Amino acid sequence: MRSGVLLVKVGRLVSRYIFQSLALLAALSFFVPVSLSARQIQVDGKPYVDLATVGKGFGMQPYWLKGYKTYRLRSQWTTIDVGKNGRTLYINRLPVALGFPTVESKGQLFIATADYKHALQPILTPQAFKDRPGCRRIVIDAGHGGKDSGARNDAYGLLEKDLTLDVARRLKVLLKRSGFEVVMTRDSDVYLPLAQRPKMANRAKADLFVSLHFNAAGSASASGFESYALTPQYQASSKYPRPTAKDAVRCKGNDYDPWNALITYHVERALVQGLGGPDRGMKRARWSVLKNLECPGVLTELGFVSHAETAKGLRSSAVRQKLAQSLYEGIVAYRKRLQRTQ
Ligand SMILES: [Zn+2]
Repeated sequence: MRSGVLLVKVGRLVSRYIFQSLALLAALSFFVPVSLSARQIQVDGKPYVDLATVGKGFGMQPYWLKGYKTYRLRSQWTTIDVGKNGRTLYINRLPVALGFPTVESKGQLFIATADYKHALQPILTPQAFKDRPGCRRIVIDAGHGGKDSGARNDAYGLLEKDLTLDVARRLKVLLKRSGFEVVMTRDSDVYLPLAQRPKMANRAKADLFVSLHFNAAGSASASGFESYALTPQYQASSKYPRPTAKDAVRCKGNDYDPWNALITYHVERALVQGLGGPDRGMKRARWSVLKNLECPGVLTELGFVSHAETAKGLRSSAVRQKLAQSLYEGIVAYRKRLQRTQ
């Protein structure tokens, strides 16, 4: 009897404990939206949120790495590393350019709310945004053309305009084969003014605009991929240290900020996964082909023709096919992410 009573009591205690835990969990999940629960501070008049709360909102474990220089958010699938006072964070090691430097305060690391909204949230939980676009009609924009050769490497006989067109055609084949509609801004060696390119995408009612380019640098050692999303309003592009008055401009393309970030992340990731690094990451710029788009867009730099080894590789059609294949995989990964509801 006594043990029976005890068992009942223990049972009650356990169920009360479970009930309280559930209530606490429910309360926590209710308060997960960062705007409600995150600790906020103001830095230079801009709101910042603490990464520990942001991480919990994504179901990620937050902690400092040894040495207190890098803050990590971690889940089963994703690791995000953020340094102090830096403008880059790493999502599964892919460098993502931020608009504003992170800030440490009282042992906590804070990220600008704008960066949470424009980088972390669209990449990690795109389903949080309304009005998800389709992903059926893709406009491929082969950079340069005609009298505009773009970057060149005479030693290897490479012109950027030829490389972009070659990869664009390969990508077109891959996309069409799996049911995408494809529109090319150019399909021959013609000159096409920059303003014409987004106009063609808008006229075609494109779901996505992908602009292909190759880099050249004064330094022969520069190499790797980098992909650009349109810079959000009030934010400096990646190559500038801080915003100025002209960054208050809002472009048409900014209506698609979450999707610009998502496609850029997936294109960059697929390129590095397919062909290796160095991964120069996801960056921000107000390229004129991106500014006036009425759909999501990305401008990707598919390697440095000024880098001898890259240039040698680009002479091989197998490498150019691999570039197209990786771009294709990036677009498919983006579409898959758009279609996911959870
Ligand atoms: Zn170019």
